[in-house]
Amino acid sequence: MMKTSLTGIKPTHIPHVGNYLGAIRPALRLSETYRTAYFIADYHALTTVRDPAALRGHVHDVAATWLACGLDPDKTLFYRQSDVPEVFELSWVLACITATGQLERGVAYKDAIAKGEAPNAGVFYYPVLMAADILLFDTDVVPIGADQRQHVELARDMAARVNHLFGEGTLVLPEPLITEAPLVPGTDGTKMSKSKGNTIPLFESGKKLRKLCLSIVTGSETLEEPKKAEGTPLFEIYRQLATADESAALEAKLAAGNFGWGHAKEALYEVIERDFAPMRERFTALRADPAGLDAVLARGADQARGIARATLDRLRARTGIR
Ligand code: AMP
Repeated sequence: MMKTSLTGIKPTHIPHVGNYLGAIRPALRLSETYRTAYFIADYHALTTVRDPAALRGHVHDVAATWLACGLDPDKTLFYRQSDVPEVFELSWVLACITATGQLERGVAYKDAIAKGEAPNAGVFYYPVLMAADILLFDTDVVPIGADQRQHVELARDMAARVNHLFGEGTLVLPEPLITEAPLVPGTDGTKMSKSKGNTIPLFESGKKLRKLCLSIVTGSETLEEPKKAEGTPLFEIYRQLATADESAALEAKLAAGNFGWGHAKEALYEVIERDFAPMRERFTALRADPAGLDAVLARGADQARGIARATLDRLRARTGIR
């Protein structure tokens, strides 16, 4: 049987090119080899988001983005976390078998304390909810960047403890699947990130997109001088999108001289405009129909709740709750 892979997506902003290349594209490729589940983690977003309209809007932005990028809801379980309230029941059981010290060692919580912040209890409890997200669906693997390893290991520890206390086979032990996604630079050359204002939004087009491409930092060589493409932010984005032949051609033109950074930026603009055109169209149509998006997510939630209830039935019987 195919293994199950589960991924959560926090609806905190409109996805950018870094999210697409670093998370969305690799995740969609996984659905060829795994039974995949993707959920929009709106309750995780609530640890920081305080604007109800923005949260609702971002859930729809994210749902439309993933569908536009090729997620097939007939093949992939696709739902909104808050539509599956069973996750909170499991999270309570997990909290009851977890030492507070384990949560105190949580990276997100520790970071916040180290920065002198006063994190809310949601930040402290977040690894428990994440473990419940994972364990509720008999997840085998969780694709993550190396920085998230601790959270999946904690979920695995919790599952092992539940099995030890209440019987083997109660919960499936998940494993981290460390993905080596490319780090996509933003227009200022540092990691593309919403908080830094250096992003290229995924479905930007026309003049705005062109302006963003032209704003990418480059060297200050003259038009005539030969230029090294490798390692420049512009080329690092370009080669993720263009074909291997196109990338080699751009690299050669820059190396030959008499080809300016402005020309290279133009080439990047064209490749983004071209590659994302079909997805942009699908996104626009999907995003204009929030009720349609909710219907897709509701169908996913129905399916998800069926799996969730089976897990909870097992757990309730064994813990003595029923
Ligand atoms: P965030 O936008 O920080 O919520 O990240 C959502 C997902 O996108 C995570 O899986 C990140 O690893 C990925 N991601 C975000 N920014 C980048 C980037 N600049 N390059 C590659 N992946 C990224």
